Amino acid sequence: MKDIHPNYHEVKVECACGEHFTTRSTYKSDVMKIDICNKCHPFFTGNQKIVDAAGRVEKFNKKYNIQAGNKSGAAAA
Ligand SMILES: [Zn+2]
Repeated sequence: MKDIHPNYHEVKVECACGEHFTTRSTYKSDVMKIDICNKCHPFFTGNQKIVDAAGRVEKFNKKYNIQAGNKSGAAAA
């Protein structure tokens, strides 16, 4: 049998979150470092990673003196 197959072997996958598991891959190394896995990906955890700093809407509203539920704030003064 010709040796046409790539090096398909067991690979240890290590995630930045600490999760690790083994899989079989043709990956060149025995250990694969990943940044995100099914344990820490927001899609699976349900936790949204908020990129923008919190409070931006509040700052905007405060800057323009917009009160929640009072859209005609300027006229009411
Ligand atoms: Zn992870």
